[in-house]
Amino acid sequence: MRIEDCRTDFPITRDLIYLDSAATSLTPKPVVQAMVEYDLRYRANVGRGVHRLANVATHRYRDAHDAIKSFIGGEGGTLTITRNTTEAIGAVAAGLDWKKGDRVVTTLLEHHSNLLPWLRLRERGVAVDIVRPNSDGGLEIADLEAAIRDETRLVAVTHASNVLGTVLPVREIAGICRDRGAKFLVDGAQSTPHIPVDVAAIGCDYFCFSGHKMLGPTGTGGLWMRRPDLEPLHVGGGSIESASSDGYTLAPGEERYEAGTPPVAGTIGLARAAAYLREIGMDAVRRHEERLTARLIDGLAALDGVTVAGLDAGTDRIGVVSFTVEGMHPHEVAQILDEASAVLVRSGHHCCQPLMEHLGLPDGTVRASTYIYTTTEEIDTLIATVEEISRRAI
Ligand code: PMP
Repeated sequence: MRIEDCRTDFPITRDLIYLDSAATSLTPKPVVQAMVEYDLRYRANVGRGVHRLANVATHRYRDAHDAIKSFIGGEGGTLTITRNTTEAIGAVAAGLDWKKGDRVVTTLLEHHSNLLPWLRLRERGVAVDIVRPNSDGGLEIADLEAAIRDETRLVAVTHASNVLGTVLPVREIAGICRDRGAKFLVDGAQSTPHIPVDVAAIGCDYFCFSGHKMLGPTGTGGLWMRRPDLEPLHVGGGSIESASSDGYTLAPGEERYEAGTPPVAGTIGLARAAAYLREIGMDAVRRHEERLTARLIDGLAALDGVTVAGLDAGTDRIGVVSFTVEGMHPHEVAQILDEASAVLVRSGHHCCQPLMEHLGLPDGTVRASTYIYTTTEEIDTLIATVEEISRRAI
């Protein structure tokens, strides 16, 4: 499918300029149809019954699971479907056998979902080392390397910043972690929808992502593990090989991590979303967004009274651009963009309060983010409206 032809699958784009895909993407008709088909035509629980619908539903669910795993190049590891990235990261924080004195290295670029779970581990005697980027938001890999000590059990870093859009060299970081004997978790919430991801090539131990940011339904995401070395978050129905009143033996495969009825429709929808992205091609998605991002950054940076955050933070970027308008609160700018031009953007701290403090932006920023359905004309409307707003503000 040509990327230019996808817009009719997203009815919301008819009336609105949706530039908030980093918060959650729109979802195309084929994804909704795949979920409706399950609910209306072959709805049954999975991995349990032997009747005909249970068989169909189980096969479709397993196929969807495999397709999602393959989308991130994860065939050699274990995938568990989670509600979102936050739950996936939480499962790692809860599932590793931490000892007092262990350390975690993370960065100040992180979303709260990749920071708070580690801070909470302090209650269990785990120390957290937070690597600070420079004043513009650029991270020196040498600083990250220097923070890793013998006691460091885990390094947890975002693949792409949800504030600045910068992409981190996770392959290089994985190599450092391997050399230093630390496990490596990648927060792929912002990368999986926008750049080709291959977890085997990255060489990480855990990879976390959200379905709702990559055209899939809300309430879906994934945790991929190189080895199934975590204690499961939950135990119960569907996750065992055998159980008696004395105890239980967990299933050897992926089922051990999916106790209880999984989000069947959601997983089938997420697999359809992955197939949709594959039909377009992730390289084409990347090229499309690189073009839009360059236009967005150039257009905004040229405006008087407008500052693009993290301009020098790195050149490898996804379509996420944060900016401020002099003399105006980001929420005010976002509200006017909506009212004046039906342009929908995010404003505030983007669940990255420590980063905002570090960048000297306590009120946060306005954030525009693109996806496959975004057009050049929409970017130009955003820029023209921000120009109007900034003229009024000056
Ligand atoms: N990490 C990053 C980098 C994100 O952008 C987000 C979502 N904004 C999350 C984690 C959390 O994702 P979710 O809300 O789907 O759990």
